[in-house]
Amino acid sequence: MSSKDVSTLNIGPRVWRNGELIPWNEARVHVMTHAIHYGSSVFEGIRAYKNEKGTAIFRLEEHMKRLINSAKIYRMPIKYSKEELCKAAIETVRDSGLEACYLRPVVFRGLDETKPTFGVNPFPNPVDTYIAVWDWGRYLGEEALQAGVDVCVSSWTRLPSNSMPAAAKAGANYMNSQLIKMEAILNGYHEGIALDDRGSVCEGSGENLFAIFDGTLTTPATSSSILSGITRDAVMQIAGDLGIPVKESSIQRAMLYTADEVFFTGTAAEITPIRSIDKITIGEGARGPLTKKIQDAFFEIIGGKRKAPRDQNWLTYVN
Ligand code: PMP
Repeated sequence: MSSKDVSTLNIGPRVWRNGELIPWNEARVHVMTHAIHYGSSVFEGIRAYKNEKGTAIFRLEEHMKRLINSAKIYRMPIKYSKEELCKAAIETVRDSGLEACYLRPVVFRGLDETKPTFGVNPFPNPVDTYIAVWDWGRYLGEEALQAGVDVCVSSWTRLPSNSMPAAAKAGANYMNSQLIKMEAILNGYHEGIALDDRGSVCEGSGENLFAIFDGTLTTPATSSSILSGITRDAVMQIAGDLGIPVKESSIQRAMLYTADEVFFTGTAAEITPIRSIDKITIGEGARGPLTKKIQDAFFEIIGGKRKAPRDQNWLTYVN
C-alpha cells in the first residue's frame, strides 16, 4: 500500500519514528523484534478533536507522562523527554492533515539487526518510539454514547498488580483484555467487565467504570488493578465541579446490577453509558441523567466551550 492509499483510509500518511516522520508503509519491524515474542511494549491512546478553534489534543501532557511512567516500570529507557514527545505528537497530527484523530504512541523493545539477540532478557534490545495517527470514530458504535451498551461480567479476572502492574499501559496487559473482549463479543455483548483477583469490580477491557448510587459517583480505586485512566480523572474532576459527590471504593458485582446508572470512560470509549449488565437492565435501560450531565460537560470542554476544572488547560492546539 502506498502512502497515498492510506490517506483514503484516513490514516496519517507519515509515522513518527525515533525523531523523524517516515512514510506509513516504511514503519515496519523485523519478525524477530523482541516485543512480538515477549510482549515488551508500552503505549498510549490519545484523541485529537476538532472544535471551532482548530484541532486540539486532549490532555496530551498527561498521556505522555503516563507513557514515560509505563516505560519506567518496565525499565525501558525512552530517548525522548515529555516535552519532545508532546512536540512529536503535535507534529504528527499536523502533518497528517486530519482534523480529528486518534494518536497511538508506542515504545517497544526492538531488534538490533547487526547484533541480534533473541532471549527473554530485554536489556540488549534497542528501545524504539513510534507515533501513528488515524481517524477513529466511536469505539463502541455511534449510537452507544446516547443509547448505551450491553455488557457482561467476564469470566476472566484482571491480573493482580504484583503479576502485571496495571499502572503500566503495557501491550502485554491487552492479552487479558483480548480474552475479555472476545468472550463478550462471542456472547453477543459490546464489552466485558473484569473483576479483580479479590472478586471486586475492576474495569472494562479498555475502559474504566463508574457506578452511580443515590447521586454519588463511585469508581474502583487504583488499588483494584485498574489503569489509572485520564478520562476517569477528567470525569472525577468534572463531577466535583458539578457538585456531584465522588467516591473511590471497591464495588461488588451484585451492586453493579442495582446501581442507578453505570458508565465506561476511556479515550476511545469517551463516556459510554451501560444499559444492561448480564442482561439485567441498569436504571431505566438508557443513559441516565447524571451520566448525561457529565457527558455534556466533558464534550463542552473538548469543544472549547467550557473551561476545564480549576482553569486547567486540557487542550493542546496543533496549529
Ligand atoms: N483501562 C484500560 C484497560 C484501558 O485500556 C483504558 C484505555 N486507555 C482505560 C482504562 C481508560 O484510560 P484513558 O481514559 O486514559 O484512556
